[in-house]
Amino acid sequence: MRRKLVAGNWKMHGSLAENEALLAGVLAGIASAKTDVAVCVPYPFLAQVQAKLSGSPIAWGAQNLSQHGKGAFTGEVSAAMLRDFGCKYVIVGHSERRSLYGETDEIVAAKFEAAQAAGLIPILCVGETLDEREGGVTEKVVARQLDAVIGRSGVGALADAVVAYEPVWAIGTGKTATPQQAQEVHAFIRGKIAALDPAVAQGLIIQYGGSMKANNAAELLAQPDIDGGLIGGASLVADEFLAICRAA
Ligand code: 13P
Repeated sequence: MRRKLVAGNWKMHGSLAENEALLAGVLAGIASAKTDVAVCVPYPFLAQVQAKLSGSPIAWGAQNLSQHGKGAFTGEVSAAMLRDFGCKYVIVGHSERRSLYGETDEIVAAKFEAAQAAGLIPILCVGETLDEREGGVTEKVVARQLDAVIGRSGVGALADAVVAYEPVWAIGTGKTATPQQAQEVHAFIRGKIAALDPAVAQGLIIQYGGSMKANNAAELLAQPDIDGGLIGGASLVADEFLAICRAA
């Protein structure tokens, strides 16, 4: 039986003072969570979350990393630096990184590899745009995004990773995929991996992301292949985030 994982993606939100209140709120209710829980925060707040969350049931991570180990890469942050701050997870290939910062499938695969080489668990985001969905190529796009990583790191690497299916049209739009729409793609992802390695597929946590909220989490999380959520906006409100962590 897979344990579910609910992870907050704070994106570029927060301040030391705001985080203080948010973390205190989440910690106060975390005992009632039915899932594993993590927060992925902006780099400057890693020291703060490490101090606040060490010894708690909540893990933490970052939202991006460099594919390089070290060197003259101004403005970049390496996997080893994230490990230094106690990160367990790092999001790779979020659609905002792909669309706004030009991250190709190849770059995402290199970042995935760099994360694992340092002992981080990558949360690999995949998902189609609205045009792609309407054009009937959702599975093709998701397969291509997965194949880039499998081609580079091998299917076995997914044993130490999380996949997040995030339909781009559902992110920050209030338009959630229906539980059936999400389940279909989750089952496709698991089936594709099962064809290569059934045990890896069986154990793989596949999160759903895209306008998951307290009021729709339970029906999404009840689907057989949905093993948690990657939560944007709702992760910034303690009660809302906790409600999702209790909904599984
Ligand atoms: P929202 O929950 O704000 O739609 O964001 C989802 C997301 O992109 C999580 O990575």
